[in-house]
Amino acid sequence: MKRYRVEPGKKISLEKLDPNDNKSFKGDKEQGLKSLAKLNQELQSLQELLYAEQKHKVLIVLQAMDTGGKDGAIRRVFDGVNPQGVKVASFKVPTAEELAHDFLWRVHKVTPGLGEMVIFNRSHYEDVLVVRVHGYAPEEVWKKRYDQINDFERLLAESGTTILKFFLHIDRDEQKERLQARLDDPTKTWKFRLGDLEERKLWGDYMQAYEDALNKTSTDYAPWYVVPANRKWYRDLVISTVLVNTLKGFKMEYPKPEENLDGVVIE
Ligand code: ADP
Repeated sequence: MKRYRVEPGKKISLEKLDPNDNKSFKGDKEQGLKSLAKLNQELQSLQELLYAEQKHKVLIVLQAMDTGGKDGAIRRVFDGVNPQGVKVASFKVPTAEELAHDFLWRVHKVTPGLGEMVIFNRSHYEDVLVVRVHGYAPEEVWKKRYDQINDFERLLAESGTTILKFFLHIDRDEQKERLQARLDDPTKTWKFRLGDLEERKLWGDYMQAYEDALNKTSTDYAPWYVVPANRKWYRDLVISTVLVNTLKGFKMEYPKPEENLDGVVIE
């Protein structure tokens, strides 16, 4: 999965990264879904261990254009995990109270504690994406945020948080199909907003903003992955693989009982 990692110091160009790429898996969709089911089982066990051991904190950041698949990825990748140890934090248009503070205020308080996994559905990156594209803050404000984000993520990492960031990369044609599907399917129309069409017109500006964010904030301690996301099964496979490999790397063990339990009999 290294091929999808944005290496710190190297510049990527989104235009050159194919949202249809599926080169890291030798198989078709059916085989992909089977592998995904296996990875999901592994993830469930590893998350149980993470929760029991209480030694690690895991933060997963998901960013994407509208219809990019954040909701679907959360549903499928984390299917069956123990809700006690996994939380989703969604970041919407900031409230008046949030706007009265610095942009990381609302973010810091929902970061994971020991034994927890937190998934950010959108994140502090909105403050260098939508805010930049729409000019909600002047350039001299959002420009400083890349360094501020790197400093913030370093603080989290140095405090024991493992950070994984995924940009779900779809192309404009795929978005068209997915928006149309929302219009056509009565179970999906609730997700459709006319505002999505206005955002779609700003596609080029968003790609520029994403590219800058990916290039300026992919670090050893909080790397970005650009996930080819036109194929949903492949998108989920990439995220699951990175996550499972990372958790395996922790070499976790179930805690030993504090007392000697030899010979204990339950009557
Ligand atoms: P989603 O699209 O993630 O499923 P919503 O439809 O509720 O959820 O959209 C959330 C909206 O909040 C998005 O349009 C997003 O750009 C916006 N948003 C999130 N963070 C900020 C921010 N810091 N400033 C302005 N808008 C933001």
